Amino acid sequence: MADFDLDAHIRKVPDFPKPGILFYDITSVLMSPEAFGYCVDAMIERYRGRGIEGIAAIDARGFLFAAPLARELKLPLLLVRKKGKLPGETISREFELEYGTDVVEMHRADLATPRRLLLVDDLIATGGTLRAAADMIRESGSTVEEIFAVIGLPFLNYAGLLDGIDIHTLIEYHGE
Ligand code: AMP
Repeated sequence: MADFDLDAHIRKVPDFPKPGILFYDITSVLMSPEAFGYCVDAMIERYRGRGIEGIAAIDARGFLFAAPLARELKLPLLLVRKKGKLPGETISREFELEYGTDVVEMHRADLATPRRLLLVDDLIATGGTLRAAADMIRESGSTVEEIFAVIGLPFLNYAGLLDGIDIHTLIEYHGE
C-alpha cells in the first residue's frame, strides 16, 4: 500500500472550470476500486483509535471519502453543505472567493453536542472553504482535530489560512 501510485489515478484537466486552472479530478480515483480503496484504507488506518467523535464532510466530493470512513469507524457523519440544501434549522458562514463570496451551512442540531471532529474534503486549494467550516464548527463548541484531504495544493498557501489546524493529505502538487 505504501508505494501505491495514487498520482496515476488523478486526472489533470487544464483550463477547467476556467482558463488557467488545472483541475485535479477525482472521478478517475472513484472509477478505480483499487485507488478509492487505497484512499479510504489510508484514512481508516490514520484515524482509527485517535479519539475522533465525528466526521464533518464538505459538499460534495468530501462526502464520498468521509462516508465510508464514518461507517467503518462507526461515527456520526455531519454534512457541511452549500447554501440552501439543508432542510432543517442551519448555522451558516460566509467566506471570500476570488470573485465574490460563498456560504457553507450545517444543521444546528448536528452541532448541538460538542465533539472532536475530523474535517474532510477531496482537495485543499486556498483552504477558504475548510476555514469557513472549521470556524463554524469551533464557534459551536466542537473542535477540529485534523483536516484531511486526498489532494493538497500547498503552493496556494492554505497552511497560512488554516493556521493552527493540523492538516493531512495523501498527495501534494506543487504548481504546474
Ligand atoms: P478552496 O476553498 O479554495 O480550498 O477550494 C476547495 C474546493 O474547491 C474543494 O472542495 C475542491 O473540490 C475545489 N477545488 C478548488 N480548486 C480545485 C482544483 N484545482 N482542482 C479540483 N478541485 C478544486
